Amino acid sequence: KLSKRLQWIADWVPEGSRLADIGSDHALLPVYLAKHKRISFAVAGEVNQGPFEAARRQVQGACMEMTVNVRHGDGLSVVKQGEVDCITIAGMGGSLIATILSADPKKLEGVTRLILQPNVGEDIVRRWLREQGWALVQEHILEEDGKIYEVLLAERLADRQLLEEHNERLYETRQLPCGIALTEDWLFLMGPLLSLNPSSVFVQKWEHELGKWERVLRTMEQAETEEARERRTAFAKKQAEMERIV
Ligand code: SAM
Repeated sequence: KLSKRLQWIADWVPEGSRLADIGSDHALLPVYLAKHKRISFAVAGEVNQGPFEAARRQVQGACMEMTVNVRHGDGLSVVKQGEVDCITIAGMGGSLIATILSADPKKLEGVTRLILQPNVGEDIVRRWLREQGWALVQEHILEEDGKIYEVLLAERLADRQLLEEHNERLYETRQLPCGIALTEDWLFLMGPLLSLNPSSVFVQKWEHELGKWERVLRTMEQAETEEARERRTAFAKKQAEMERIV
């Protein structure tokens, strides 16, 4: 049985996919999908020796070698161009996810779906998707074992015009009833779809974040230089906005 987080990702993998799970660790996700005959083929990529071996053991133990190919290497270097049509990258920071996806654009040709679960830096992933011409089509936020996770689903839209319209609508500034404008920057941070219908987990996450920002502000107040004061004023303004949004 998968964790709630991995199950959510698994459910977004289209039936019959040729999948690359990058940073697969124990290869739990591709093995689960292969066992349930949900994918036709998977590459489980791992850059580190320990997790690579754990993935190999997992695949052998489940007798899934015919479907899941465990490969040792950095990011998308383990897949051949055109080999997969769906990529999952979960459980790492947003900037690492963006670096992996940017390393070799040719590897993304033929890929129609990305399922990404950054542990931090979700805004970096959303910005990357927007800049690289992907459409963010679904977002989910969930809580498991006291941690909060966001899962992002992005697709390629063949029609450029449709894609532009979709992304413009997604990140268009929204006027909140409290009078605050939810600008593109806030939408990258909080999620344009998550913030549309805020769930209790979403509110819990941002109340917690607000607490962290307040503590940062208190620390900044102790700094004496002019530059520190300027930075503090800018941060305080953002923090006050967030307080009203949350
Ligand atoms: N994807 C699994 C999950 O969500 O449960 C495992 C997440 S684990 C916290 C992150 C894994 O990514 C580690 O096993 C690490 O070795 C691997 N990793 C980190 N950087 C990587 C890279 N550049 N290429 C491939 N794997 C990487």
